[in-house]
Amino acid sequence: MSFSTFVTDKAGLQKIYEAIVASHETYAPVEKFGKFDYKRLTTLAECDPDSPIAKTQSIKPLFFPRSARVMKYVATNAGTDVSDVDEDPLAAKRVILGVKHCDARSLQVLDKVYNWDFIDTDYQKRRNNTLIISTRCDKADTHCFCTSLDYDVENLDALDILVVNGQDGKIYLKARTAKGEEFLTEPITRFASPVTEEIANPEMSRQYAAFDGTFRLKMNYAEVNARLSKIFDTPEFENVSGNCISCNTCAFVCPSCHCFKISDEKVKDTGVRYKSYDSCNNGYFTLMAGGHNPRPAKYRRWRQRAMHKFVYYKERFGENLCVGCGKCTIACPVNISIFEVVNQVAANV
Ligand code: SF4
Ligand code: SF4
Repeated sequence: MSFSTFVTDKAGLQKIYEAIVASHETYAPVEKFGKFDYKRLTTLAECDPDSPIAKTQSIKPLFFPRSARVMKYVATNAGTDVSDVDEDPLAAKRVILGVKHCDARSLQVLDKVYNWDFIDTDYQKRRNNTLIISTRCDKADTHCFCTSLDYDVENLDALDILVVNGQDGKIYLKARTAKGEEFLTEPITRFASPVTEEIANPEMSRQYAAFDGTFRLKMNYAEVNARLSKIFDTPEFENVSGNCISCNTCAFVCPSCHCFKISDEKVKDTGVRYKSYDSCNNGYFTLMAGGHNPRPAKYRRWRQRAMHKFVYYKERFGENLCVGCGKCTIACPVNISIFEVVNQVAANV
């Protein structure tokens, strides 16, 4: 299926976004106390679709919430009454603006997990009802390395509509999926003109080449994959994880980490069951009921984190779990970088 491309300018894009917010349930990056997170909008003025959201939060919580109520119950000697929680607010038909490409990609790796041995129907509903509009970055951030990994950032099909800044103030919008193609015929055609691929593609390729040239970090992922897959016991994991305080922040901000825990919070007879983020960096993550813990030392937990991202997930699903967004490095209170960890360990095999 070939997809349409349109061209507009900054004022036209603003009008397109305004029309989307007026006619659709729309989420976008909203600033609060100097930090950005995705929120539902009432007006476009509340958000900044070009925000530096890549540095702080991902779109993961819109599909896999940080902490969600899964059921309520009343447990007495007479028995237990279970009730469902309220309707899922994330399952409505919606549009997300201001998504970064790395974040969009992370949904493809989460899709594989949630469609694997157990189908997470809540996640599926949220995915199916969401349209993603993603502007390609013009410049890499200090810790970004998305273009060094095994996915095609230039021709990403994890997003429904691609937005690319061209030369002379031109902005290109291209459908990347059938869902995006259908959407393009809606508000966008009022404020943008169709353009041929012969004109648009060279412009978009030029933008990509310039963007790719701004990366400080480059890695040979295939070599890292191959070298890590040959080792398990190496003191290098102790060297790279020595400062880790096991706070789990890296996993909580990571768009592709997907571990969770189920917990009950009960006061007298009334309880709520939650599904919340968890992390393999947690000391108790692998603690068993009998008291045995196969990963009591943090270097073993960091080994699991690095190997899951660059070996285990790839063995199962054929690609890396890490999308190279750099959020974990920016958020880490002791400046541990997964880019440095995997490259340093691989270099010392
Ligand atoms: S491990 Fe770090 S760089 Fe990789 S996807 Fe997660 S947050 Fe991004
Ligand atoms: S954010 Fe840093 S300190 Fe916290 S668990 Fe991750 S690597 Fe360790």
